[in-house]
Amino acid sequence: LWKTLLISERISALGALSAGLAHEINNPLGAISSHLAYLLSVEDDPERRESLLWIEKEITRIGNLVKTILSHARGRTEGPCDVDRTLRDTIGLLSPQARQKRIALSYTSTGPLPSALISEAELKQVALNILKNAMESIGEGGSIQVEARSVDDGLVIAFHDTGPGFPEPSEAHLFDPLFTTKAEGTGLGMTITHHIIQRAGGRIAVRNRTPSGATVEVRLRAAGSTHR
Ligand code: ADP
Ligand code: MG
Repeated sequence: LWKTLLISERISALGALSAGLAHEINNPLGAISSHLAYLLSVEDDPERRESLLWIEKEITRIGNLVKTILSHARGRTEGPCDVDRTLRDTIGLLSPQARQKRIALSYTSTGPLPSALISEAELKQVALNILKNAMESIGEGGSIQVEARSVDDGLVIAFHDTGPGFPEPSEAHLFDPLFTTKAEGTGLGMTITHHIIQRAGGRIAVRNRTPSGATVEVRLRAAGSTHR
């Protein structure tokens, strides 16, 4: 069962609003951090230190959220992108982590692939976001297969994992900002992924596999292709 999810308007609104918001949050956050660093440097009482360290940890978390939003607002380069190399690079980046979790991470490409109309940095971010989700859903053991193939005026990259699949009722919310089913999740990975792909004129679709597992399929335009 395919669910093609194109929620373009909602996502563009997120871009403009959250980038501005992130800037506004970043400044007071910097001030809070430096005052906190000062307090930590003079505080000897263990209980109070623990409290301050706890604040520091949570501030770091907000800081990471803000950084994610800002870096996304900045980047927007066009292609062409060598999909094969970019995917191999990204998979190479994650393979130590996969090995540690005993997850078999494989990549196959069928036929010669055209260059894609997306920047390498952005495809890398897309692949990272999807692969990280796949690894997090699997936990330990299992496998992730990445497959790339060319289609009429572009190419398709499929990410298959052997995790439990998308939680059914949440499928419609996958791309919503801040939607997460994880205790430590940001809920921004899929939102940003969707936004990047849509900006590149591509599409993203998700489906669950039988008996279990998830597939995320990304369709990109070939560099030089004319229609959307
Ligand atoms: P986060 O990873 O921080 O939770 P994302 O936007 O990356 O945020 O993902 C949103 C939600 O989509 C996840 O919390 C999870 O419920 C679901 N999800 C994404 N990828 C997968 C996957 N491969 N298998 C199962 N669920 C997934
Ligand atoms: Mg994620």
